[in-house]
Amino acid sequence: MSRPDPSGSRAPGPGGPGRGAGGPAPGGGFDFSGGALCLDFANTLADRPRGEQESLRGIDDLVAWCEEAGLVARREAGRTIDEARRSPSGARRAFRRAIALRERLYRVFAALAAGTRPDRSDVDALNRDLASALSQLRLESGETGFAWGWSERGGGAARLTWPVVRSAADLLTSDEAGSVRECGSPTCSWLFVDRSRTGRRRWCDMKTCGNRAKARRHYHKARKAKRGPPP
Ligand SMILES: [Zn+2]
Repeated sequence: MSRPDPSGSRAPGPGGPGRGAGGPAPGGGFDFSGGALCLDFANTLADRPRGEQESLRGIDDLVAWCEEAGLVARREAGRTIDEARRSPSGARRAFRRAIALRERLYRVFAALAAGTRPDRSDVDALNRDLASALSQLRLESGETGFAWGWSERGGGAARLTWPVVRSAADLLTSDEAGSVRECGSPTCSWLFVDRSRTGRRRWCDMKTCGNRAKARRHYHKARKAKRGPPP
């Protein structure tokens, strides 16, 4: 993996206009509005209680997400897909691990958002993920100095999630850990870093979940008004 900045910190990506509640943007694009790579990864499944909005259905989707997130270049993405075709059982294993990591990240950050302590077993497992990801970090020298990079060799498809793991560790140990929120919509479950001035942001996206909540409030108010005051 040759991404020069492995910290996982990134500018918000192309949010999908017209995205459904927490789902992928139409046309195959993913949504990167969580404010941190690890949260964007957790957000590849929306509406967890029903599990109906899954964006990652196999290793190809995972590679596509990494490419869109800027974690792998097109050539490396192609190489990973080729590797996966040659070793389907290894690819399936790596994919299962990636999904287990995603659900672990969701549980840890959702607990944080709810003001509770994450489960000890999730933190232990995250520490194991971290140990294996960070063992692949290395220094890369360039013309203007050194930068963090990832080992070019080894890891197979598992390498795809190394920057995600690092992003989670960075966020958990940063001042913004207390600003992680879960969207207020009962059918969303997206996580985001609340960087609003008031620190009271409720919705992952005002254009989708926020608007729906506003429409619902308006509907109930209108119905109440129509029924008139109670006798
Ligand atoms: Zn939402």
